[in-house]
Amino acid sequence: MTTLSSALPTINKRHTDCRRYPDGVTFMDGQYLPMSEAKISVLDWGLLHSDATYDTVHVWNGRFFRLDLHIDRFFAGIERLRMKVPYDREKLVSILSNCVALSGHKSAYVEMICTRGSSPTFSRDPRQAENQFIAFAIPFGSVANKQQLQRGLRVAISDTVRIPPTSVDPAIKNYHWLDLVKGLFDAYDRGAETALILDTNGNVAEGPGFNVFVVKSGALKTPEFGVLPGITRRTVFDLCAQLGFSIAAADLSPSELRAADEVFITSTAGGIMPVTSVDGAPVASGQVGSVTRRLMDLYWHKHDDPAWSTTVLYP
Ligand code: PLP
Repeated sequence: MTTLSSALPTINKRHTDCRRYPDGVTFMDGQYLPMSEAKISVLDWGLLHSDATYDTVHVWNGRFFRLDLHIDRFFAGIERLRMKVPYDREKLVSILSNCVALSGHKSAYVEMICTRGSSPTFSRDPRQAENQFIAFAIPFGSVANKQQLQRGLRVAISDTVRIPPTSVDPAIKNYHWLDLVKGLFDAYDRGAETALILDTNGNVAEGPGFNVFVVKSGALKTPEFGVLPGITRRTVFDLCAQLGFSIAAADLSPSELRAADEVFITSTAGGIMPVTSVDGAPVASGQVGSVTRRLMDLYWHKHDDPAWSTTVLYP
């Protein structure tokens, strides 16, 4: 479990009043900045080529949720992309904590990013680029708003195919989102609120920033192939083990999704979120299901558990 013993913020004198940063705080180039002052070069390959990896963790009631798992995934992605960040785990935790503490927010959306950066000699060789680390904390945001969380989201299955895992490894959290954004526009055109897109075999993959689950006859299933192994998805497996629910990761066809008893999506941006309509038709009775409700309750309850969360040290 990560501890934050040395995490009291050290900041520029100019930026010591946390009440001045309701829009959030960024750390880049070794300093903490208000969001409006955080800028990257237009030559950064993160912008020009989506050559970047990142992770997002949330803070709820002053505590990071499952921070260690997010940091493990971030460092694994950096290694796979042959990038380097000049910070070890302990320093990274203190930077993230400082961003949150300086922002003053008790519930926050916290991102850590490593981009390829750019080459001082304009070289096209990625090995010559100076990698750029950025972190920020902004107010907590959710895929689903309050009303959608209560009545369930309306989702459409787009026929857009997610970028193949043989091209871009989805386990490296990335900004290759043109497929997901196309799916979103398809969904809006069909009167839905968000989208699910397909894998290369025509099964359901994931949506813009979330994984998906179905419940059928008491058993849960989530796609295995071509998806980001989400930390919230992993958390659902852990919660199911505690609740004694049966759960599997396997192919999920669009027709299985439409015939499910319950459907929900999962993301750090919102947690476990019910879906009550797919392609304009209600999921079962069209009400939020009891398995989904039990998982949602336990998920939020776990946010106070020291085994699953880490305190932010506010000044
Ligand atoms: N799938 C994609 C493509 C995502 O971008 C995300 C989160 O941003 C997720 C799934 C959910 O992952 P997590 O639960 O770790 O937030």
